[in-house]
Amino acid sequence: MKRRLAVLAVVAAALWMLPYALDSYAIHVVDVTLIFALLAIGLGLAMGIAGQVNLAQVAFFGVGAYTVAILTTHNGFGFWTAALLALVATAVTGLFVGTPALRVQSHYLGIVTLGLALAFTNWVTNAAVAGGAEGINAIPVPQFPGVDLSSEYLFYYLELIVFAIALAFGLFVVRTPLGRRMRAMRDDPLAAGAVGVEVPMLRMTAFALASVYGGTAGVLYAGLVRYVAPESFSIANMFLLLAMVIIGGRQSLLGCVAGAVTLSLLRELLSDYPTYAQVVYGSIVVLVVVFAPTGLAGLPSRFRRRRAGPRQELRPFTPFDLVSTEDSRPLLELSDISKQFRGLRALDEVSLTVRAGEIRGIVGPNGSGKTTLFNVITGLYKPTAGSVSFAGAQVTGAAPYRLARAGMARTFQNLRLFGALTVRENVLVALDRTRTRSIWRYPLWPLGVWRQDRALRAAGDELLGRFGLADFADARPGALPYGIQRRVEIARAMAQQPRLLLLDEPAAGLNGEEVRQLSEIVRSIRDSGVTVVLIEHNMGLVMSLCERVTVLASGRIIADGTPAEVAIAPAVVEAYLGDSMADTVEQVVIEEVGR
Ligand code: ADP
Ligand code: MG
Repeated sequence: MKRRLAVLAVVAAALWMLPYALDSYAIHVVDVTLIFALLAIGLGLAMGIAGQVNLAQVAFFGVGAYTVAILTTHNGFGFWTAALLALVATAVTGLFVGTPALRVQSHYLGIVTLGLALAFTNWVTNAAVAGGAEGINAIPVPQFPGVDLSSEYLFYYLELIVFAIALAFGLFVVRTPLGRRMRAMRDDPLAAGAVGVEVPMLRMTAFALASVYGGTAGVLYAGLVRYVAPESFSIANMFLLLAMVIIGGRQSLLGCVAGAVTLSLLRELLSDYPTYAQVVYGSIVVLVVVFAPTGLAGLPSRFRRRRAGPRQELRPFTPFDLVSTEDSRPLLELSDISKQFRGLRALDEVSLTVRAGEIRGIVGPNGSGKTTLFNVITGLYKPTAGSVSFAGAQVTGAAPYRLARAGMARTFQNLRLFGALTVRENVLVALDRTRTRSIWRYPLWPLGVWRQDRALRAAGDELLGRFGLADFADARPGALPYGIQRRVEIARAMAQQPRLLLLDEPAAGLNGEEVRQLSEIVRSIRDSGVTVVLIEHNMGLVMSLCERVTVLASGRIIADGTPAEVAIAPAVVEAYLGDSMADTVEQVVIEEVGR
């Protein structure tokens, strides 16, 4: 911490002294570089952090600059009033550009945003109010008491302060709940929705954030150059900006800044060879993508030697507090659910009632529709027919994040942890129950956000400790053994404090001891008042844990009852003929009788 502060102080002092070492041309280059760095941070937030392809960043930049230009020269506004209105205008544009993000998939967003950027350049080139191809000149010098901002040396300090605030704010966002959710959404939007992240709203927020950075850069540009023309906001500049973010390393805001500085300087070096400039940028991008996909930001960790950490082990699970509830009303009710995939009927009129406090087993051969059933319950799939009610409310077709917030949590058959987040962050994303709309606190009450983050972290560490995962809090899930990843996923689901927990083959790939621990965990979860539905092939586990078992075959329920009843049902015996179930059941029954 001390070392960081020292580095920060040295960097700040160096940046403050920088103009003394520069001639009037060099300071201009530096001023422009800072503006590009702001743009790159905005683009990095949308693309690198939130995973939203945004090719309209240069249009946000343009809206900011042109609004200032038009309002000051045509409408007689002062610079600062115009600047404020320009920021409002870009934020509105950002929300507008982000609206398609509510509906279309990420890769189409590239086309949509590129179209909007082209529409913008087209408009400014042709509109009389924007001065056409000549643009607008004679934008007034921003007035500031005691400081002559027409000097590019003094303008540098204005830029530096704005840049420092913008960078600090960006880093704050990335490290606190909003940024964590954005990164989770980038890694796996589907799993993010399942843990309650309001994906559509969040995608729009990413565009709004990017646009405010773009607008701020535009305002500064108008104040610095005091002249705007269409070519500054062209698609060529958009690709330059994109190159900055890719070369610097998308997932790190400091990387984006490094990329902006590198390419701005390179652009100066190449300014005498405009024919080759684009080719050089292009080649560098290709080289970076192939040889250093994490960009400049990823280089330090490549050369850092990995020290072997302290011994890490999965510690025992600490049971949850017992909660005795008399409530055994139906919590989940499915009636006549069908799900059709083209020619395949994956679910065929499935009706099922799960009472509060139950551990329900769902078994059936591979492909019988078990996972599809979970996907329908959790809102991932809309059923072709039938209805789902949860806790007394009709929820058929509700969005996954709504159901998650209403108290459903699940794990996935093939594990869907957020790969670029640490184990702790995986849990924190799920713990955080605040709504996306409360992000107004970021600009207006950051202290509140910071406090909330601290409280979340404390709760997260407690939960990780309970699941015996404390040693792995800072590890990336992908680096951990399979059994531990499975447990992280259960911990993440429990972080949502659900009423209903859906486990999709939680014992798959676990060894004997791990299965025993799993059984203990599931029982404790139920005893803490959470209803559990369990899809499992491990019959020993199902028979020992579940009060009731539902058997699916080819999308239909063929039996439903206590484990002993189900095991001898003729339809089940037939469905499992030659399969291992009959044997396992026999085994379990013999053990029970022998006791
Ligand atoms: P289980 O979990 O019981 O092994 P699933 O629910 O995964 O079975 O699959 C049931 C059937 O539905 C399978 O035949 C599978 O191929 C099909 N299926 C599942 N999801 C989809 C999908 N998204 N599109 C098309 N077919 C699907
Ligand atoms: Mg399955």
